[in-house]
Amino acid sequence: MSFKQDEGHIYNARDMAVYLGYLLDIPVILSSATPSMESYSHAKSGKYEYVRLVSRYFKRASLPTMILHDLRNEKSYGSLSQYSICKIRECLASNKQALVFVNRRGHTPKVLCRSCGWKVECRTCSAWLCYHHSTDELVCHYCGYKTSMPSCCHECGKENLIGIGTGIEKVFHECAEIFHGANISVLSSDTMNTPNKISKAIEKIKNNETNIIIGTQLIAKGHNFDNLNTVIVTCADALLYGDDFRATERTFQMIQQVSGRAGRTDSRGAEVVIQTYNPDDELMQYLKHNDFDGLYEMELRNRQALGMPPFGKVVSIIVSSLSEKALSSFANTLVRTAPKSPGIKILGPIQPPIYKIRSRYRQRIVVLSSKPLHEYINRWQESWKVPSSIKLMIDVDSYNFM
Ligand SMILES: [Zn+2]
Ligand SMILES: [Zn+2]
Repeated sequence: MSFKQDEGHIYNARDMAVYLGYLLDIPVILSSATPSMESYSHAKSGKYEYVRLVSRYFKRASLPTMILHDLRNEKSYGSLSQYSICKIRECLASNKQALVFVNRRGHTPKVLCRSCGWKVECRTCSAWLCYHHSTDELVCHYCGYKTSMPSCCHECGKENLIGIGTGIEKVFHECAEIFHGANISVLSSDTMNTPNKISKAIEKIKNNETNIIIGTQLIAKGHNFDNLNTVIVTCADALLYGDDFRATERTFQMIQQVSGRAGRTDSRGAEVVIQTYNPDDELMQYLKHNDFDGLYEMELRNRQALGMPPFGKVVSIIVSSLSEKALSSFANTLVRTAPKSPGIKILGPIQPPIYKIRSRYRQRIVVLSSKPLHEYINRWQESWKVPSSIKLMIDVDSYNFM
């Protein structure tokens, strides 16, 4: 597991703890059901001492059965397949609880005009506004901007706007319709915005007052629900194809953590249904067989072939500016003046998927090497003349920034 601070100075709390342990000569224990690739690889190579808990905490608890449900022949248009609906019905009939995992907040992540294709985007970010049914507002998930839903298209004037995609609120409405009379709790950062609200919802689940839990990653960690028997992962593919070399690792960790909520104690026969269009994908197969080692070994092979951590070093240089022109010129100069050094590859400048946030345009430059990059970056930095219009951030060990 890792905790990464993303604002201000970018650092990884895990790495800091290890370094502090080294400086003060005290042992550090890293404990996780889903360690990072780096920690796993250090454990395997003997750099870290590896203690493996082979049985689950409660002796009688068995690992849940993982089921891959192929969506390619699915006739239902909702976010739950017919198969998943049957599984939840069976689960409710035996007085157990079901969890539906969704990775998007809000109701409808995208709104556009059917006549001309106009996208409803944020004023200051190059991002879609997400429709939130609970507040009847459009919200930017990058800067927090809120506005009401326009009645017609701002380009062609037609009243022909439609929503695309599925957020947690929409899944809630679908479930309320399909599972009549079931008590449903929604756990997302929109509804559960105070610790008090979260603990009340958790309490209700533990007291069996909730039949179906619908949750985003908020639900993925730290809570054990004894009566939880069925977990549905609605969006495995969306997790898997992220813009980041860590997407596979994160998908695996997320699915492991969500499925870890089920069958923690004596609840035999817990099932996890992963809805996917890619059931033959290697990652999916490892998940199906609960094959933790196989999956890590596969991912380590892929990382080695690409020279990505833990085999290579990656540093991202992220530059942003209110002026697109100033940004592009600065980023290009930066790359042009990078010191030549054997074994060091520089990629970019590259436009990230969210090119603009809070009116600031963004570019990233990625530095790859098989050796530590500190000295190289320090040497390069001496030649940088960063104008006041440009903000520059250095992110070590990361490739992705939205
Ligand atoms: Zn239009
Ligand atoms: Zn915004």
